[in-house]
This record gives sequence, structure tokens and C-alpha cells, in this order.
Amino acid sequence: MPKRLVDRIKSFIPGGRKKPRTYQRREIPRDQHNVSRSVISEPAKKVLHRLNKSGYEAYLVGGGVRDILLGGKPKDFDIATNATPEEVHDLFRNSRLIGRRFRIVHVVFGREIIEVTTFRGNANDTDDDSADDDRKTSEHGLLLRDNVYGNQEEDALRRDFTVNALYYCIRDFTVIDFANGIEDLRNRQIRLIGDPETRYREDPVRMLRAIRFAAKLDFEIEPETEAPIRELAPLLSHIPPARLFDEVLKLFSAGHGEKTYDLLNEYNLLAPLFPETVKAIEAGEPDDLIRQALRNTDARIAQGKSVTPYFMFAAMLWPALQAEWRRRQDNGDPVQPALHGAIGKVIGRQVQATSIPKRFSGPMKEIWELQMRLPRRQGKRAFGTMAHPRFRAAYDFLLVREAAGEIDPGLGQWWTEFQQADERGQERMLSQLGSDGPKKRRRRRKPVKRQAAQ
Ligand code: ATP
Ligand code: MG
Repeated sequence: MPKRLVDRIKSFIPGGRKKPRTYQRREIPRDQHNVSRSVISEPAKKVLHRLNKSGYEAYLVGGGVRDILLGGKPKDFDIATNATPEEVHDLFRNSRLIGRRFRIVHVVFGREIIEVTTFRGNANDTDDDSADDDRKTSEHGLLLRDNVYGNQEEDALRRDFTVNALYYCIRDFTVIDFANGIEDLRNRQIRLIGDPETRYREDPVRMLRAIRFAAKLDFEIEPETEAPIRELAPLLSHIPPARLFDEVLKLFSAGHGEKTYDLLNEYNLLAPLFPETVKAIEAGEPDDLIRQALRNTDARIAQGKSVTPYFMFAAMLWPALQAEWRRRQDNGDPVQPALHGAIGKVIGRQVQATSIPKRFSGPMKEIWELQMRLPRRQGKRAFGTMAHPRFRAAYDFLLVREAAGEIDPGLGQWWTEFQQADERGQERMLSQLGSDGPKKRRRRRKPVKRQAAQ
């Protein structure tokens, strides 16, 4: 019988699904794992050692341990400790206390930031009444605040996935596994700790994290962990837009954007992030440009190049913009005002789902507006367009549109050559343009003399 079916049957039996999971602590000695001090950054080691020397427990945890065990290079290092945020802050002059929902400490070493969190516990398990103030859930089961401290084991079981609940101890070089994370790493599985539905309701962003890790690590999402996602996906609309913006950036800038996009679609998770885009695509707008842009982004990341959030957002919202732009033109708006109206509308709607900081929405608009200017090159226009601060991004966007088959090829190549040509070459290119398309020259209208009424 397929496992999904078994789960469904179990869910009809009272208590059948929510059987308490039992986990056992395991210690993996140094000769049985590949985490070594040489792959941990100096700042992370410094923080671990200083906490230990000051009498606190401190472990490397999360992506740092997971990625090293997988033979990869961690993006950053997270540390868990039994010192309170204030105690950590007192130990490091170069640190700052941040966060409200989670209070954590950032220890800053130049460009590297070590995130230090205090072991969290589960308020429901304590007799302490004051704990209620520190751990709050909403009517949807959403965790609003989570600052109840606990011991290491409680901390492990409060984490999201089993592979993220592995700890490395720099004192005796052991890896400590509380939730069979090592086994799941071996089987390449993303598995939530505890009851999946409860954990997603507490924090719906975990659904996005499941997708992000599955794409990034090329893991499967274990059946019980994946089962509730499609149905619970709309819960993401309760998450503040600023947090979703951060998550979207993480989702699409980890180098596996196209795969992530497919998974988000598969699990109904794209709609809460980009509602207008999904509506437009469902109404028949193609998404080839999105795919092509994500493919390019993935290739750039693989080459160690940077990617800009505004380019990615310009692509993700392009189908919505196209649909709205066309709708306005069909209603009789001239092309330019229709574009401006559409831009305002699409961005206005998007910021209700994910915020878009002004420093990104400005350039995004410019990329879109320049798409109309790029075909008009006659006279001095090409030079004006090329001098625009967003020209490079708009030109890249044009190339993506061509590669996606949205417009006929040719214009991109023209701009490629124009940028490489010397002055005379550029003049030649412009003079050859002459006849390709009607030259619209606006004549200044002569002032109409009003006839004096007799
Ligand atoms: P990466 O840094 O590579 O994106 P990571 O696993 O380190 O992956 P972070 O966002 O840095 O992810 O979080 C660090 C750790 O904190 C996670 O590994 C996990 O144990 C815990 N964590 C983060 N977000 C959540 C969450 N929403 N719910 C429960 N635990 C979480
Ligand atoms: Mg991390």
C-alpha cells in the first residue's frame, strides 16, 4: 500500500497520526565524522572557545554542521549556547542584540557575522506561569514570541528539521544528534521534528525552508513532512511581508532557483509569495521569462558572480506586469500610461505579500521602463539609454526576454555590438538603423492663434 494512503488511514484512527515521536540522543565520536576544526571559520571558533572558557556550553549547530557533514562549505556559522543573550552580549564587545520574535546575538567580525542563540525550551512543558508571556501563539497556532530558554535537548527538538538539529562540540570534537539527523542526512531526507502540521502552523515559513533545503541539498522531502504543505500553504499570508521578502531572497539566491521555482509551484507555495504572477500564469501568461531569468541567475551564482534582488523581482513579476499592461491597453490606455499604471498596480499588490524595499523597487521599475526605450535607438536616443544607470540590468533583462523566446532575437545582439563599437562604429550602426521603423518626429505645434471674437 502506498505510504500516503497508509497515513490517511492512520489519520482516521484517533491519535493514530499524532503518535508521540521518541528521539534518542546519540554522540558520534571524532573518528566517525568529518567535522574538523580546519573547516570552521576562525571567528566561529573564537566565539565557541570564549563561551566555553567563560563556563558556558556552546556548540556549532544548524547549516554549519549539516553542510560540513555533507562535504560542503557552510554559508555561515550558527552557535547555540546556554548563556543568555545578555550574557553573550557582555562577553563580546563586537556584538549586538537583535530580534523580537527570537532574541539572538550577532557577533560581528568584519564581514562575517556569527549568530549566537540561547537554548530554547518548550513553555508547554514547564510549570512556570511567567513562561506564557515569553511564548505566545496566535489563534492559527502561529508562534508570536519564543523566548523561553531550555537545555540543549529541548533546543534540538525546537529546531525545524532533523538535519538542522546536529551539534558539534569543539571541546571533545563530538557531533551530537538528538533527532536521527545523521540517518536522514545519509538518506538525503528533509524531515520535520515532531508533528508536521503543528510545526507548520507554529511557523509557516518552515514550509518554504523545506523547499529551500530540498532544492539546495538535492534532498527528498520525507512523505509525512511533505503531506500537509499543499493544504497549509495559504497560512503564509499571516507572515509579515518583510520576513517573506527575506525568505524569497534566500530561496532564489542559493544557486538552485529554477528547481526551487518548480518545487514552490508543485506545493502551492508560489501563490502566497507572488499572487499576481500566479494569477497571470493561470490565465495563460507564459512563465518562460521567469525560468530563463532563474537559469541565468543560477549560472551566475555557479560562477561566483553576484545577483541583484531587483533583477530577480523584475523577472518574477513580469507575467503580472504583462497581463496588467495589456489589460489597460485593451481598455484604451495609450501604451506608455498603460505601462506606468500597470507598474504601480503590480508593485502595490506585491508589497502586500512580500515587501520590496525602495532601494529595490526603484531599479526594478527602471528595468521595466527601459524595455520600452531599448528598441528606440535613432538619433541620440541610444546614447541616452546607454548612459542610464540601469542600462546594464535592462540590457541583461532584454537578453533574457530574447532567450525566453518572448521577442524576436536581434535587438540584444545590436546592443551588444553597440556597446563594443568605437565612436565611428556606433555612428555607422545608428545611420544603418535609419529605415527600420517609422521615425516618429514630433513637430512642435505652432501656437494656434485664437481669433478674437468679433
Ligand atoms: P543556511 O544558513 O545554510 O541557510 P541553516 O540551517 O543554518 O541554513 P538558518 O536560517 O541559518 O538556517 O538557521 C539556523 C538554524 O536555526 C537552523 O539550522 C535551524 O536549526 C534553526 N531554525 C532556523 N529557522 C527556524 C525555524 N523557522 N523554525 C525552527 N528552527 C529554525
Ligand atoms: Mg545558517
